[in-house]
Amino acid sequence: LETKKVLGISFVHSNMNQLTDELHERIKDSKKTFVVTANPEILKLAGSQPSYKKTIQSADYVIPDGIGVIVASKLVGSPLHERLAGFDLMTQLLSLANDHSYRVFFLGAKPEVIEDAVHNIKKKYPHIDIAGYHHGYIDENDQSIVDEIQKKEVDLVFVGLGFPKQEEWIANHLSLFKKGIFIGVGGSFDVWAN
Ligand code: UDP
Repeated sequence: LETKKVLGISFVHSNMNQLTDELHERIKDSKKTFVVTANPEILKLAGSQPSYKKTIQSADYVIPDGIGVIVASKLVGSPLHERLAGFDLMTQLLSLANDHSYRVFFLGAKPEVIEDAVHNIKKKYPHIDIAGYHHGYIDENDQSIVDEIQKKEVDLVFVGLGFPKQEEWIANHLSLFKKGIFIGVGGSFDVWAN
């Protein structure tokens, strides 16, 4: 997949179909993958906090989420042409998971929110193999969620802890997993819960 460097971060410089196809290949190959959906707020924090920037740079894919990222890329003379919305990517991946009965885990949001979100996702995508879900108010050192994702050999893990928590959680735990696409989804569970 083509990438382009903006402010020291390599962004996916492609369209949603190609991105989804490539992620699908990685699911089939059981290739562990870290996806960041970078909105302007994430970029701003990366600009002021070197450790967070390193975390973002360690991702396999960083997608330009938000028109502000496209505008910023033009201002620094490295124009990205297409905005890839994180919520749209999540929808594409859920649809893919539904078509192939992939195993999915959902982590994040308040207890009642994640419950409603998973309920609604289940209704819309009945063939997804839901490995489990957990709210996002967890202890950073809690091993039980890691163990569950690991044991169930989950294909896709959606992490909605808000930034920077979600990227840090993924980066801190990634080495403990054998496979899985890990993607930070911000407040998306709140949207699914409605
Ligand atoms: N959240 C969480 N654990 C936390 C803090 C936040 O699960 O410790 C959840 C929160 O409930 C919400 C999501 O993270 O569902 C996104 O929060 P916010 O809207 O603040 O972040 P953004 O969407 O801007 O990344």
